[in-house]
Amino acid sequence: MIIAIDGTVASGKSTVAKKLAKKINYFYINTGLMYRGVAAFARMNNIPTDNSGKIASLAHELKLDLKDIDGKQHIFVNEDDLTELAIAPDIGGYVSDVADNPEVRKLLVSEQRRLGLEAGDAVLEGRDIGSDVFPDADIKFYVTADSRERAKRRLADDQKKNPNLTLDDVEKAVLDRDKRDKERPVGALKKMPDAIEIDTTNLSIDEVVDLLIDKVT
Ligand code: C5P
Repeated sequence: MIIAIDGTVASGKSTVAKKLAKKINYFYINTGLMYRGVAAFARMNNIPTDNSGKIASLAHELKLDLKDIDGKQHIFVNEDDLTELAIAPDIGGYVSDVADNPEVRKLLVSEQRRLGLEAGDAVLEGRDIGSDVFPDADIKFYVTADSRERAKRRLADDQKKNPNLTLDDVEKAVLDRDKRDKERPVGALKKMPDAIEIDTTNLSIDEVVDLLIDKVT
């Protein structure tokens, strides 16, 4: 069975997707990490992420592997673990460049589909899972929350790296990324008509996971 989880930035979708997969013993695929891996490799090698031709041919050459290590999914690019760089706070804009690239999307969407089919039972999490990667997924969720609440969840983490950040700054960044995700010409984030919407604003992680399990089983 394929479970598709899409949703807005900092809605808690990665955390709940991972927990759900663990509880029901499904393979977990964090598709955002794959876009992040390409961006991290490009940054490391000074390849401009807004050069769409260069990034497309780079993506064709790279070997991307997702591996679970100590309960966390890591991205390996050409056998090197680039997770730290891939999730660094200042990589966001570069990752968006990569995710906007239609050639890269075509390649990664087909790789994600292959991984899901190979696993058989999988939870895939991203922005376009229910629309492009598995439009015929068995169950689709659209996870979101109020933007102020999402900013609050992000603030403590982001402040560790930049103590001057305010809640307003973080909320603006969250809304900017949502806008970019929703307006992307290919693979834009949208709630599919057959997706179950979960608003996590007033729910704990465990409450969300229980809700998902309730729908899945
Ligand atoms: O979910 P996460 O923030 O790690 O995603 C990283 C980037 O990849 C974001 O810019 C997001 O829009 C993009 N992405 C995407 N399609 C996916 C998953 C993530 O475009 N399926």
